[in-house]
Amino acid sequence: MTRLDAGPVEETTESAVECDGPRSVMLEAREVPLGGVRAMDVRRALPQRDLPMVGAWCFLDRFGPQRALMRVEPHPHIGLQTVTWPFEGVVRHRDSLGSDVLISRGALNLMTSGAGISHSEYSVTDEPIPLDALQLWVALPESRRHGAPAFEQHASLPQLTLPAVTGERAEAVVVMGEFAGTTSPASAFTPLVGAEVRVPAGSRVRVPLHPEWEYAIVGVDGDLRVTTDADTTETVGDMQLLYLGIQRDGIDVHSASGATFFLLGGEPFEDEIVMWWNFVGRSHEEIVAAREEWEAHSARFGRVADHGDVRVPAPPLPAVRLRRRGRRL
Ligand code: MN
Repeated sequence: MTRLDAGPVEETTESAVECDGPRSVMLEAREVPLGGVRAMDVRRALPQRDLPMVGAWCFLDRFGPQRALMRVEPHPHIGLQTVTWPFEGVVRHRDSLGSDVLISRGALNLMTSGAGISHSEYSVTDEPIPLDALQLWVALPESRRHGAPAFEQHASLPQLTLPAVTGERAEAVVVMGEFAGTTSPASAFTPLVGAEVRVPAGSRVRVPLHPEWEYAIVGVDGDLRVTTDADTTETVGDMQLLYLGIQRDGIDVHSASGATFFLLGGEPFEDEIVMWWNFVGRSHEEIVAAREEWEAHSARFGRVADHGDVRVPAPPLPAVRLRRRGRRL
């Protein structure tokens, strides 16, 4: 995906808070027009003003469920991986490495930008079709973010079950990283997890967590209830993000009529990042340079075949310096 808006400019000067224990903070997704001639709306759960990242996860959009004609023209990325996890519909991905693939439910598209890549995303027909997917970004660590771009698709991902406290066992798909001892084959460069978990109707399960990682639960559908401490149970609706903090070895979830959620987590990220438009960097200067290179058609971002001169222009830079994004949770 691309961002038509460049995102809010963070002007906080307070120093970053380091999360030091469990939290239970409900954060709402916001509606964002993706723009273009045929506008699509997405709901964005990350970044949040008070929470720029969960582990290395720095961005989470859901487009859908909606009927739409997706035409996201070539646009650049730096310093991140895009993780596309469809629920419904077929999307064609093309990139400057020459990849040209279709993706649908059950498969993962993982694009590692390294220092620079460009790609386009189209729905497969010329008519609007039902579309629903998550797209997340993972910030790359210093050791990988200057490297070569890469693209991989995983049509089959590891599945596991979580034992039931009551009712039936939950089923999980490990999309990225490691969950409950099972590791996704998708390339990851920091310790993290992205997993889809389905809780059957009338069931309660314990979700195992690493105490040294931070986590969040994002509602996908159904009635999900999360017991965050002895006295508190939160209801997590569709695209609400419940931030759980760190130092938990597990958390209880249950559902009366069945629910699906996405678990995000990982080791707290090593650096504060500067995120603007489709770029993740460490400084204002890096972002300005990437923007200028995209606008100058630099070889840094290659070329997506069969799009002619059609591409997404970079938005204007804000008048103020881009700042690193500290957290307040
Ligand atoms: Mn994109």
